[in-house]
Amino acid sequence: MSKPLPQTADFLKNSLNTSDHSVLQELANRKSLEITQSLQTTLDPTRLIEIFSAEVGALIVHQGIRYRNDDIGLDLKLGSQARHACSYHLNIGDEPLGRLSFRRNQKFTEAEIEVLEQLLCSLLYPLRNGLLYEDALQLAQKDPLTGICNRAALDEMLQRELSHALRKDAALSLLVLDIDHFKKINDQYGHIIGDCALKSIANRVSACKRDGDLLFRYGGEEFVVLMRDTDLAGAQLLAERIRQYIADSNCNCSGAELNVTVSIGVSELQQDDNPLSLFSRADQALYRAKKNGRNQVCSADN
Ligand code: GH3
Ligand code: MG
Ligand code: MG
Repeated sequence: MSKPLPQTADFLKNSLNTSDHSVLQELANRKSLEITQSLQTTLDPTRLIEIFSAEVGALIVHQGIRYRNDDIGLDLKLGSQARHACSYHLNIGDEPLGRLSFRRNQKFTEAEIEVLEQLLCSLLYPLRNGLLYEDALQLAQKDPLTGICNRAALDEMLQRELSHALRKDAALSLLVLDIDHFKKINDQYGHIIGDCALKSIANRVSACKRDGDLLFRYGGEEFVVLMRDTDLAGAQLLAERIRQYIADSNCNCSGAELNVTVSIGVSELQQDDNPLSLFSRADQALYRAKKNGRNQVCSADN
């Protein structure tokens, strides 16, 4: 009759030699199978790492885990970042999948490292699928020309930020920016230069806004900035800073020095607002800025 397998992590923790190799192998095989099944339940990279950490924790005790993947902008820290680390650059062939570290206060034993490395194999393919999915999601929310968030991302974020601000009784403001006489730029210089001017405007708005402000390309030559914790006066200040910076600097596109101006409408969240009403008030203010002669900021009357 075969010996029953130890059920706890103690066996691995105390096993400094690998003489009982067949038991180790059996434990790792069994756990690999469980991990493979658990990881089939999600495509979210964060969830995948959480599940993996919990499953591995049954065999190899660890106080914390860190997963970092700069390609999708993820730096996940779970538990405490204890003294000893066991770190891996994950990859399939030459495709990098990020860096994963296990942390704890005691050193990892040889036996534990051997098992850990076997278990990591069960993570690689589910993680790659999750990363591809995440990449596709991020791509669907990006404007390919300027690299900033697109209209789909705005629809999602506006709803989320508005609900959050109303719940927390926090300020939230929005500005809509439209390039003045942009059609003339296309007509005079062509669409390639027009595209370059659009990128330059996106960069200049980006340079003016704070880190927490969210910038979107709403449509053709229209942009939106969503400003958290910002009241109307604060939003007017930012809008005026953007307007002036753009008016005072040129776009250099293939040798053509273009002086472009923008008109901006600003609105602040009110108690009974929904995404559409908040946006519409800024849009009406923008319309007034255009009517009043362009290259100016107008605010919604709240
Ligand atoms: P106004 O000051 O009233 O806003 O005038 P305008 O010419 O900027 O506005 P209008 O709506 O008449 O024209 C917008 C122009 O933006 C027309 C369109 O060809 C151009 N446009 C929209 N999307 C793009 C794009 O992706 N690239 C380029 N090059 N042009 C674009
Ligand atoms: Mg327009
Ligand atoms: Mg325009």
